[in-house]
Amino acid sequence: MKVLVPVKRVIDYNVKVRVKPDQTGVDLANVKMSMNPFDEISVEEAVRLKEAGVATEIVVVSIGPQQAQETIRTALAMGADRGILIKTDATVEPLAVAKLLAKVAEEEKPDLVLVGKQAIDDDSNQTGQMLAALLDWPQGTFAFKVEKDGDALKVTREVDGGLQTVKLALPAVVTVDLRLNEPRYASLPNIMKAKKKPIDEKAPDAYGVDISPRLTVVKVTEPPTRSAGIKVEDVATLVSKLKTAGAV
Ligand code: AMP
Repeated sequence: MKVLVPVKRVIDYNVKVRVKPDQTGVDLANVKMSMNPFDEISVEEAVRLKEAGVATEIVVVSIGPQQAQETIRTALAMGADRGILIKTDATVEPLAVAKLLAKVAEEEKPDLVLVGKQAIDDDSNQTGQMLAALLDWPQGTFAFKVEKDGDALKVTREVDGGLQTVKLALPAVVTVDLRLNEPRYASLPNIMKAKKKPIDEKAPDAYGVDISPRLTVVKVTEPPTRSAGIKVEDVATLVSKLKTAGAV
């Protein structure tokens, strides 16, 4: 089974984001960037499928600037086999990402595309679903567990109030949720090995996909600052404050 894993370079989740003074977006100057955390989970799952003898090859793909190559290298150090960088400095919206990934899938013919549930920068939660629609492949979103079941794939999904299990015919698109696994740290020998693994570089034009934006961001604002808490003398006062809603 060949697995395709898209990985996005985003602001590191530990960084406190700053909104640009003109409110057009988030300030990216001198900010630490890393692999989108959900994509680390996808890479980890693909590597586990390979270790279990289910997956045969793992191809990672990133759409982004030259530095997205580092994100691909991280995935290669975790155990992926080769990478594709679709190089662009433009902001690529989820629909255009899905269209590019659909082209890559047509070319690479994976049996499974493991997509992150959402990118933590735009929080769109759209790419995997749109990719499945464009390819006309089955999808299992918010995966909590992924198991091969004969020729099919059994995906246990996180849904409101519990879990739902679906069976997908392959090829399929699966979007991964937070509790699917705990991604590994790449070991030093694997980081060294990853330097020799191949990364293909392409331009979005090579796929004939128009990546020009369709959406207009009206305004980006900081969340309201939390007001300071208060100290109460004893439990009785705390309970009475809690009962009179909004008092604490
Ligand atoms: P989103 O729909 O933007 O929340 O992103 C969901 C998932 O789509 C991410 O976790 C990635 O797996 C994939 N994705 C989105 N943008 C990119 C990109 N520029 N390059 C590679 N994968 C991406």
